[in-house]
Amino acid sequence: MISLEKCELCPRRCGVNRHESAGFCGAGDKARVALVSLHPWEEPCLTGAKGAGTVFFSYCNLRCCYCQNHEISHEGKGQEVTDERLAEIFLEQQQRGAATLDLVTPTHYVPQIIHALDLARAKGFSLPVVYNSGAYDSVETIMSLRGYVDIFLPDLKYVDEVSAAEYSQAADYFEQAALAIRKMVEIAGPVQFAADGRMTRGVLIRHLVLPGHRHESMRALDWLWQEFGDTVQLSLMNQYTPMYRAAEHKGMNRRLTTFEYESVVDHAVELGITHCYVQEGQTASERFVPDFDGRGVRS
Ligand code: SF4
Repeated sequence: MISLEKCELCPRRCGVNRHESAGFCGAGDKARVALVSLHPWEEPCLTGAKGAGTVFFSYCNLRCCYCQNHEISHEGKGQEVTDERLAEIFLEQQQRGAATLDLVTPTHYVPQIIHALDLARAKGFSLPVVYNSGAYDSVETIMSLRGYVDIFLPDLKYVDEVSAAEYSQAADYFEQAALAIRKMVEIAGPVQFAADGRMTRGVLIRHLVLPGHRHESMRALDWLWQEFGDTVQLSLMNQYTPMYRAAEHKGMNRRLTTFEYESVVDHAVELGITHCYVQEGQTASERFVPDFDGRGVRS
């Protein structure tokens, strides 16, 4: 059973009492939120006409050196909210016409989110719930989301231990992410779409191709294809931007070349993958980073 008293919500398994202190991620016993917005840049099947109803949570259990959201994920910018206020936020996203409730980096707040979803559903909340995580989740945490989450939206960042240790301080990333993603697929089932193209259930796995790592990306695709075939939706991203502390790591202080990205896309096609979003043109820009100004957090 998951709890805040002896926190093992993610594979760091810090074991801290979150009512008294914080573990690796920095999160306390109340959810902390940096921005509530309608977000147009998620994959089209998640955004609908008005956008995904994003709730950006503060803190993170990974330490990605290129994190575009580092001011909230590493530095904790945001405001604490009670579970009751979190439930109101979910209902307000529904009233704004959001296509989905998109919980961004939710891992370390799963108990608070489950309580808030119970409160919101008692008041008529009915949006599809998207769990948008880095996949560094414990299996127990994913199991607790059965009946609460409709769509899992994990990253698969690395398959190499060396990359995971150097860029995100999580050497066991792939081992843990593989377990978590398998459990997500078991819970959500094969991907399903409504007649208007909106995704209603299933797992959408994102992979960001990193500069100098196209062969690692191909191995990530090999694993995904071998494990899940076309029962999941994939999204291959080319938007790597050398932000934050990326320049401190050899080879990471540049954008992706067209050749690197296209060779990974070609590999997906060669494998026979058909459920896969690809990005066209230059999408790498700091302009796409949201302004974490606290909008929508207070009533
Ligand atoms: S959620 Fe935070 S405190 Fe809990 S195990 Fe993970 S890193 Fe540690």
